[in-house]
Amino acid sequence: MIAKYMEEIDEVNQIKDISKIKPDIIPFKCPNCQGYGTVQYGKKVCHSCSGKGYILVNQKEVPNG
Ligand SMILES: [Zn+2]
Repeated sequence: MIAKYMEEIDEVNQIKDISKIKPDIIPFKCPNCQGYGTVQYGKKVCHSCSGKGYILVNQKEVPNG
């Protein structure tokens, strides 16, 4: 029984390790097209995100406080 509990604790620790990972580049919904990838009711491809609907923000470029 104890060994079973130890396995569960290991699993929890692994999940915590995964949550610690902070990617340098995080995708955000494009503020120009609101994530649609197109502007002007779909007539034009959004230039901010090249039609992807999201933009990649480099977290290292954002100062923390
Ligand atoms: Zn866009």
